[in-house]
Amino acid sequence: MSSFTWIPLVLNLFILLISHPTISAAFSSKQGSSEIPSEFLKSAKTPEIFDYMVKIRRTLHENPELGFEEFETSKLIRNELDRMGIPYKHPIAVTGVVGYIGTGNPPFVAIRADMDALAMQEAVEWEHKSKVPGKMHACGHDAHVAMLLGAAKILQEHYSHLEGTVMLVFQPAEEGGGGAKKMRDEGILENVDAIFGLHVSSRYPVGVVATKEGPVMAASGFFEAKISGKGGHAAIPQQTIDPILASSNIIVSLQQLVSREADPLDSQVVTIAKFRGGHAFNVIPDSVTIGGTFRAFSKQGFIELKHRIEEVITLQAAVQRCNASVNFYGEEKPFYPVTSNDKELHQHFLKIARSMIGDEKIQELQPSMGSEDFSFFAESIPGYFYYVGMVNETEGQMETGHSPYFRVNEDALPYGAALHASLAATYLLEGRSSVEAQNRSFHDEL
Ligand SMILES: [Zn+2]
Ligand SMILES: [Zn+2]
Repeated sequence: MSSFTWIPLVLNLFILLISHPTISAAFSSKQGSSEIPSEFLKSAKTPEIFDYMVKIRRTLHENPELGFEEFETSKLIRNELDRMGIPYKHPIAVTGVVGYIGTGNPPFVAIRADMDALAMQEAVEWEHKSKVPGKMHACGHDAHVAMLLGAAKILQEHYSHLEGTVMLVFQPAEEGGGGAKKMRDEGILENVDAIFGLHVSSRYPVGVVATKEGPVMAASGFFEAKISGKGGHAAIPQQTIDPILASSNIIVSLQQLVSREADPLDSQVVTIAKFRGGHAFNVIPDSVTIGGTFRAFSKQGFIELKHRIEEVITLQAAVQRCNASVNFYGEEKPFYPVTSNDKELHQHFLKIARSMIGDEKIQELQPSMGSEDFSFFAESIPGYFYYVGMVNETEGQMETGHSPYFRVNEDALPYGAALHASLAATYLLEGRSSVEAQNRSFHDEL
């Protein structure tokens, strides 16, 4: 079932005509668009929008939901969009929501937030601690949803000035589930010219953004292998086929893929993070299960690495008379492509960020071997992903994402909301869109 209704907003239009003269003036001339980012930041810092975002983020933090189970989160988002008079499509990819602000016609530009939490217990003692045992917003996706709703509020106040349509993409299951892939495969990017996404960061100070052009995060995949031999008495190895020794050799051989076969300038990682086999000191088990992750910074490097992991596991097992099967979890845990920032969108981002926070607050991002499913969007259309700093320098270091002690500094919320809103509004205003979007392929699978 899909609901998609445009709600007429005559009243809003009237209010709009009599309010925000500065921003209206900025919208009315293309030169004036340089004032939009700082005006939007001012708006995002007003109690009306800041307190709103804080409330949303705390509500979500108390009620975390895992990937593809974000039913209450999705409902909260839809209620807020209803309240703002923003039409939307739902469901997309189970819990996903796409809102529309502007003319309802092309060009379309998208801004995205992920909604899911992690399966871990929160260790921070505070008033709005997670109420769900074993689940926690430890990656800041609660803040991302709040920022996108904050941006929606700002944009909706100016919707009649938008020269096209801003799409608000609320996606499920970023943490391994590939929610972005599912949304993309359901066609949400059709006719969309560009997409922007952000992540809060505990590495950079609040008010600072970090970014770069080109690849910023690696392609990643998971694998699990079962190595089967023949169990028996540990003191009579000649009557067994030992899967423990075979697995140990497999692990050593796998480590040579990066050191001996990969281009040293194409960063790659193979990590075995799981080894399960045996339960007694004097029994050789029948089988061993190993599992891990592999990463690469180029599509070609990633494809080759996957191929060799399978080959090394099965052939190395055979050397020691074992059988091995390898599972790459293609459906359950889709491979994430390299996250790469579009060159032209980088220039657009720099322009907006400079007029909002100044050149000195824009830092060069150090690429990492982490991965992001925003890459599924950025693989199909020009995409841009950046980090919004959260560190309060007087309070010192912050825990990184996925730590049970992870905290969000809510002072970062206005920056995310204002950047989202400014990037999208000025993108439309400057007529950056192109007809190319019509002819693009949406299923460029890795
Ligand atoms: Zn995460
Ligand atoms: Zn995250």
